[in-house]
Amino acid sequence: MSNKDNIKLAAKYIQEGKLVAFPTETVYGLGANALDPMAVAKIFEAKERPSFDPLIVHIGSLDQLKSLVREIDNRILKIANKFWPGPLTMVLPKSDIVPDLVTSGLNTVGIRMPGNEIALELIRTSDRPIAAPSANKFGRISPTTAAHVKKQLPDIDYILDGGKTTVGIESTIIRLTDKGFQILRNGIITREDLETILPFDGNTEIEKGSAPGMLKSHYSPRKKLLIANENISITDFSKSGLISFTGKLENGVDKVIRVSENDDLKDYAVNMFEAMHAFEDDTDIETIIAEPVEEKGIGIAIMDRLRKAEFDWRNQ
Ligand code: AMP
Ligand code: MG
Repeated sequence: MSNKDNIKLAAKYIQEGKLVAFPTETVYGLGANALDPMAVAKIFEAKERPSFDPLIVHIGSLDQLKSLVREIDNRILKIANKFWPGPLTMVLPKSDIVPDLVTSGLNTVGIRMPGNEIALELIRTSDRPIAAPSANKFGRISPTTAAHVKKQLPDIDYILDGGKTTVGIESTIIRLTDKGFQILRNGIITREDLETILPFDGNTEIEKGSAPGMLKSHYSPRKKLLIANENISITDFSKSGLISFTGKLENGVDKVIRVSENDDLKDYAVNMFEAMHAFEDDTDIETIIAEPVEEKGIGIAIMDRLRKAEFDWRNQ
């Protein structure tokens, strides 16, 4: 089947209320018709995701945005013009057509126009907004290839294969306030990027519950993962796999995956989940060690993912 035929079939499945995994530029999504609560319920079931964790709705046009939110002001349009299609989610007051299940009962909805041609084609062909969290079991490593999806969710209706994703970590999530914007989740679109359009609102503490799915543990491999030099000094490197960035820590480690050839943080983001999957699948490896980076720019998002991946293992 050609790519076009695959997308057509996947779009038909979306219309029929089935689950379709599809590539976005960030990670693979597990999609369903966002306006069909029965279809959306299947996402929570397949992922074993708790219902308090709201879903991001993916759109293919600004017309679709109009139907999902209460109103569209100039600031929303400015941000959309600059960053969409792309790895940015805006949390906005929702319209009545968005089911409560999608938003976990909140009166806001997270919306993104993904920057991946297959994703856009799927949304446009199905003519439905598509609710899609990452296509992995709740709390586990996000998928950046179709094979990663198959490993964790072998039984879903359909997987659209679009190769490896080009950003590699989840979207930046923002919400708008009277003063500007706040960041609910960091990603490769940084505070500095957003500040070219709107002021950063640093005054208000992010209220508890404003981003309900932000848990301390997430993105977690089935094997111990530790950040080098952070909470531990690693003395025994046997049976360890290193997620290496600069190359500085490679001595004495059993296996190394270098995520960048030229110290580019974007490469770290693109390759980090794939490296975690590879070590998780490698029977010779017992411990995964990740090289930390400076928490600036994209480094903030990378360290956020590493800390959450490490969280369950830190005190064991
Ligand atoms: P993901 O797991 O990548 O699909 O991202 C979903 C995350 O987006 C959730 O865990 C929430 O933290 C955030 N999110 C989605 N919708 C909302 C919303 N209406 N308000 C605040 N945060 C949201
Ligand atoms: Mg996720």
